[in-house]
Amino acid sequence: MVIIKSDQEIATMRKCGKILRAILEKLITEVRPGIKTGQLDVIMAEESEKRGVIPSFKNYRGFPANLCVSVNDEIVHGIPSERILQEGDIVSLDAGVKLNGFHTDAAITIGVGQISKEAEDLIRVTEGSLKAGIAQAISGARIDDISSAIQSYVESRGFSVVREYTGHGVGRDLHEDPPIPNFVIGKGFLLRKGMTLAIEPMVNAGDWHTKLAANQWTVLTADGSLSAHFENTIAITDNKAEILS
Ligand code: MG
Repeated sequence: MVIIKSDQEIATMRKCGKILRAILEKLITEVRPGIKTGQLDVIMAEESEKRGVIPSFKNYRGFPANLCVSVNDEIVHGIPSERILQEGDIVSLDAGVKLNGFHTDAAITIGVGQISKEAEDLIRVTEGSLKAGIAQAISGARIDDISSAIQSYVESRGFSVVREYTGHGVGRDLHEDPPIPNFVIGKGFLLRKGMTLAIEPMVNAGDWHTKLAANQWTVLTADGSLSAHFENTIAITDNKAEILS
């Protein structure tokens, strides 16, 4: 069931999303060759506490960390660890926080030091596809309009969209209806004012197929190619969508 939020609830999510964005900005400044992904998780915990929010991912269905850190061929759900980031890696930071009963969710992929032309292109196209999807997120349109915009943006630039994982509604729960695929699957829900959605294209440089790591969490590209991930939480309004995170 799709939950429509009141203006007051959206105001809480707006505040929550601003804090999340500030935490992500802080994390971005910490990404450099030589840092362990586990150190980013510690920073996520510290920054959340300092700013009065709760990391949404910790213990979500048993997830063991505050933050998802996915490197290179890891698509999503990378678990922070002793892994040391190297010059040329790309790293996806996916975070959610909860404030006064409401979650927001966001992700970004960035390069570690100097990265390859392919990696740069992949990151730029993934971010562009998120913008293209959000541009379609207007009251009266359908989920499919978002999915179609993302898929065609990505595929026309020679990359592929992950099929097995999708965006989602977000608010009182981290994952609410409706699912938001990054590929065309059917018309989907009608978008209405007050819907709050996490739109999150996951884009592979190679084939779209995925595999699960031995830790049963981390999702990797099946062919070992690079993957990037961008995500915003948005609210559907009468006009263009408002970006909350
Ligand atoms: Mg999400």
